[in-house]
Amino acid sequence: MSAMVIDGKAAAAQVLEQVSAEVAQLNQAGVQPALAVILVGQDPASEVYVRNKVLRAGECGIRSLEHRLPASTGEAELLGLIHSLNRDPGVHGILLQLPLPAHIEETRALQAISPAKDVDGFHAENVGGLHQGRDVLTPCTPTGCLHLLHQALGELRGKHAVVIGRSNIVGKPMAALLLEADCSVTVLHSRSRDAAELCRQADIVVAAVGRPCMVDASWLKPGAVVVDVGINRIEEHGRSRLVGDVDFASASAVAGAITPVPGGVGPMTIAFLMHNTVRAARQQSRAPKEAACLSIS
Ligand code: NDP
Repeated sequence: MSAMVIDGKAAAAQVLEQVSAEVAQLNQAGVQPALAVILVGQDPASEVYVRNKVLRAGECGIRSLEHRLPASTGEAELLGLIHSLNRDPGVHGILLQLPLPAHIEETRALQAISPAKDVDGFHAENVGGLHQGRDVLTPCTPTGCLHLLHQALGELRGKHAVVIGRSNIVGKPMAALLLEADCSVTVLHSRSRDAAELCRQADIVVAAVGRPCMVDASWLKPGAVVVDVGINRIEEHGRSRLVGDVDFASASAVAGAITPVPGGVGPMTIAFLMHNTVRAARQQSRAPKEAACLSIS
């Protein structure tokens, strides 16, 4: 069998087209969606991520406001900036680029963002809402994965999904989203026993581990749909290249459909950041009092 390759670039382009159309509608109603991006320090990978996010926002007609702070910025100063952005009615989404310098407590900084403007979906209010099945802002990467799965499979009800990895950013919210989609969900992690055997029972496999090519054909049931979140840089024949957590060549001989790396989940993450920003702008422009109230939490 040769798996269908799920084209994340094309799917992301469709999402961004919808986002642009919604921005145009909001503009007509007098609302200019705006995303504030905060970068503390000069981590080279973070610089690239921020540049790409700002670029994509501009392409969709979303205004972006960059706040670049030196690595020496104190936690109080960062929290002060976040609180002022929470209060600013012209800002609809706040993205705090991670990782933060070690002297700043990450959880405290993320919790300072108003849940209404938390376009990354990392605030405890939104995390809890997701687990309660409420309509909240959800993390961009797993939301993008869910979108790809719906495109590949249509209805997900009753499918057995295995999520490999249990991070707060990908694995846990992915499991919660799949549960909400009526899948039966198994979450594997570094302490799981018989991981490959459990994975072989899955109709859907989402790998978010950070270990190059860990999942190969022997982990998969024939016809399984595989979403590879991993981004790993490896050196091969004196050249560096990106690979996922799934051994693409081996897995695609068994899987029914599979995302490539690059060109699979990566583009979806930014697309859903834009989607969340427009959603936040729509919600805040409908209920300005609620947004203002949440911004002082
Ligand atoms: P984390 O390091 O936070 O989490 C990795 C998870 O994998 C942990 O839960 C860990 O288990 C689990 N794990 C480690 N080894 C094994 C193993 N042998 N078997 C089963 N599980 C294992 O990573 P992230 O979730 O942040 O990211 C995962 C990958 O996804 C990375 O490659 C990252 O670069 C990529 N990524 C890609 C994005 C995109 O846009 N495409 C966005 C975000 C991440 P335990 O909890 O027990 O330690």
